Amino acid sequence: MENLTGENLQKKLVRTRQSAWKGIKKETAIAINEYGEAYKRFLNQGKTERLCVEDICKLAEKSGFKSLEHYNKKLKAGDKVTVAFQNKTVLLFIIGKDHIENGLNIVGGHIDAPRLDLKPEPLYEETEMALLKTHYYGGIKKYQWVTIPLALYGVIFKKDGTKVTVAIGDHPDDPVFYISDLLPHLAQEQSNEKLPNIIKGEGLNVTFGSMPYDDTDIKEPFKLQALALLNEKYGIIEEDFLSAELEVVPAGVARDVGLDRSFIGAYGQDDRICAFAAAKALFDVEKIPQKTLCAILADKEEIGSVGSTGMNSHLFENAMAEIINGLNVENAELVLRRALANSNFLSADVTAGFDPNFPGTHDLKNAPYLGRGLVISKYGGSRGKSGSNDAHAEFLNQLRQCFNTADIKWQSGELGRIDLGGGGTIAYMLAKYGMNVVDCGPALLSMHSPMELSSKVDAYMTYKGYLSFYENI
Ligand code: MN
Ligand code: MN
Repeated sequence: MENLTGENLQKKLVRTRQSAWKGIKKETAIAINEYGEAYKRFLNQGKTERLCVEDICKLAEKSGFKSLEHYNKKLKAGDKVTVAFQNKTVLLFIIGKDHIENGLNIVGGHIDAPRLDLKPEPLYEETEMALLKTHYYGGIKKYQWVTIPLALYGVIFKKDGTKVTVAIGDHPDDPVFYISDLLPHLAQEQSNEKLPNIIKGEGLNVTFGSMPYDDTDIKEPFKLQALALLNEKYGIIEEDFLSAELEVVPAGVARDVGLDRSFIGAYGQDDRICAFAAAKALFDVEKIPQKTLCAILADKEEIGSVGSTGMNSHLFENAMAEIINGLNVENAELVLRRALANSNFLSADVTAGFDPNFPGTHDLKNAPYLGRGLVISKYGGSRGKSGSNDAHAEFLNQLRQCFNTADIKWQSGELGRIDLGGGGTIAYMLAKYGMNVVDCGPALLSMHSPMELSSKVDAYMTYKGYLSFYENI
C-alpha cells in the first residue's frame, strides 16, 4: 500500500455520499430550475393518464414525431414515431442507425396515478345533498383524500355516441369537490379504528351539491338538480355515466416547496416525474442515435399493469412488430425476438426516499435520499427479493460508467428495509424477453398521497441520466 495519509486513503477508497446540491455549478442550478418549470407545467396539464398522453403527443409532434401510419412502411434511421393506445398509453421511438436486431435503449415509466374513480352509477342524494360514489384506484391511504379540494376529470360518451370532456376544479373560476371527515369531538370511535378503516372505501363519497330542483312533489329533487346542471353544461343524462370514465383527483397546481424552493410538491409525481423525464430526454436527443430508442409512458401500473393499456398486455411487443414491419427487414419474427432480447431497459419508476419523520422504515446505509440524485435500485420486491427483477452486475456496470462519464448525480437505494414492505414496477414485464433491466428513478416522500414530494435536483438528474442512457449505452 502506498504511504498515504488516512485522509487521502479515505478519498481514494471510500465512496462519498452527499447532497447533489453541494458544489453545484451556477449554470446547472439554472438548468435545474428551468427543468422544474417544464415538469410542473406537465404535471398541471396531465392530471389523468389521458391528459398526459394528449400533452406528450403535442410535445412529440413539435419535436418532429409522427404516427406510424405516416411513414407507410418506409422507416429509416432518424425517423421519430408515436404509437398511442386507447389515448392512455403512448410509446415514442427514434429509429437508430444500427440494425434493430441489435436491440433498443428503452426508458419506461407510467402515467396513471392513484385516485378515486366514479362508480358507474355514481349520483345519489341523501339528507338534502347530492353525492357521487367513488371506487378508489391504486394503493391509497383513504384518510388522506378527505377534507382537501378535489377536481373531476374524464370523458363521457352520450346517448348519441358523441364524446364530452370533463375538467372541473383546476380553473381559477371553477368550484372544487370535497369529501368530508368527522370532527375530532365525535371521533372517539373512529380513532380506535385501524388505519384502513378510519375512512372506509364506501365512505369516499364526493359532495356534489345541495340545491333542490325547485318543483313541488318530485322524488329526489337534489339528485335531479345535479343532473339538470350536468345536462345544461354537458348535455348528458344519467345513463351516460355508464359509458364514462371520470376521475376524482386533488385540485390545485404543482408548487415549489421550501424557502429555497428545492422541492416540488404535487399530485401524480409517481410516476409522471419519470414519464416526463423519459419523454423529454428523448425529445432532446440531438443526433441520429446508433441504437433505436424508445420511451414508454404506460397506463394501469398502479393496479398491476393489467388491461389492454397495461404493460402486462402485448402492446409493446405488438408495437415492436409494427416498427420492424415498417423497417422492411428479412425474417421479421426472428428480428423481433432478437431486438427484444438485445435491448436495455430502464424501468423508470420512483422509489421511497428516507423520511426523517419516519426513521424506522429503511436501512439507512442503503436508503435513497431526496436530493442525492437519480436512484438505481438493483432489486425491488419483498421478503427475500420475491417478485423482483434483480439486475445483473454487468448491466449495473454499464450504467455506472455511463452516468459517471456524463457527471450524473446518482445513488443506489432500496425501497424500505427488509421484510417491511416492498413494491413492484414494470421491470419484470420486459425482463421476460431476456433484455437487460434495472429500476431507475428518483425517490419521493409521501408517495401515493394527494401531494407527493420530490427534489428538483433529482428530477433534473433523472432527465439527464435517461438522456445519457439513450445516447451512450
Ligand atoms: Mn410507480
Ligand atoms: Mn405507485
